[in-house]
Amino acid sequence: MILTVTMNPSVDISYPLEILKINSVNRIANVRKEAGGKGLNVTRVIKQAQEEVIATGLIGGVLGDYIVKRLDAINIKHQFFDIAQESRNCIAILHEGNQTEILEQGPTISVEEGTAFISKFSVLTDIAKVITISGSLPSGLEKDFYRKLIDISNKKNKKVLLDCSGKCLEIATSGPWLPYLIKPNKEEIEQLTGMSLDTGSIKSFVEMIDTHKSLYEIPWIVVSLGKEGAFAKVGGHYFAVAIPKIKVINPVGSGDATVAGLAIGINNIETPENTLKRAMAFGILNAMEAKTGYINMIKYTDIFSQVKVYPY
Ligand code: ADP
Repeated sequence: MILTVTMNPSVDISYPLEILKINSVNRIANVRKEAGGKGLNVTRVIKQAQEEVIATGLIGGVLGDYIVKRLDAINIKHQFFDIAQESRNCIAILHEGNQTEILEQGPTISVEEGTAFISKFSVLTDIAKVITISGSLPSGLEKDFYRKLIDISNKKNKKVLLDCSGKCLEIATSGPWLPYLIKPNKEEIEQLTGMSLDTGSIKSFVEMIDTHKSLYEIPWIVVSLGKEGAFAKVGGHYFAVAIPKIKVINPVGSGDATVAGLAIGINNIETPENTLKRAMAFGILNAMEAKTGYINMIKYTDIFSQVKVYPY
């Protein structure tokens, strides 16, 4: 079983418009509303791959109810903790080839709610082998909140795959309890290390890890590089992963699909090569679709066979 954690889920609203009229009325016929947040994208992709998954995190109010309804509609199991404040909306306006986003900050979590969630999480970890933690923390929770979840999981020998950025990632990777895997993209690893990464040379990635010995202790580091594939460190081994050229429809959520692939590979004890191929194939399949956190598994075998893993 894979447990996914989404601490600040949202109702993602998309408004497609021919032209966005400023200081005027914009009427929209085709509104789409989906359960969103990086962790829920991971959850949906795992479910599409027909693996066992259960989603947890914080939800509140009628928007929280809507999120749960959307998950129920596709038979995704969930065990959320109910908070007093309302979950958030995130709005994407698609206009003239642009995407203008309006992201609500979301609810503020009380200290008691944070503590109660930790107790719930601790119980849930018993049924999981692999735990994914994705996205930003809502306000009210301390920046080291993920480190606490990692500590609980590590003590129970559960593997935490962490996909967050900025201060959250910095604190969670500074020990003493480390995640089993991190999946930063190019910008996120550069921000974390203060070094620039040459995507054309795996040596540059090896040097980056060499200069940051604390990162070396993390068993899996997968740096996703968009259309250029990925670099990975698994134990003491380094890999460059090359991917095929595809017709991109919408790459938003490809990182989350990648995490879903990594979680499945690790949960099923696949080889590092296979796990990396699966993860890249999921990221690519997500980029080939208009919907975020959606992969068409019919194309999986074909895409998988075109991903190449080169040991360094
Ligand atoms: P994030 O969404 O976290 O920024 P990336 O953009 O690096 O992550 O995407 C994750 C993975 O999805 C990539 O490693 C790749 O496999 C796939 N992917 C993303 N964008 C593209 C693209 N334009 N073409 C092909 N594959 C892509």
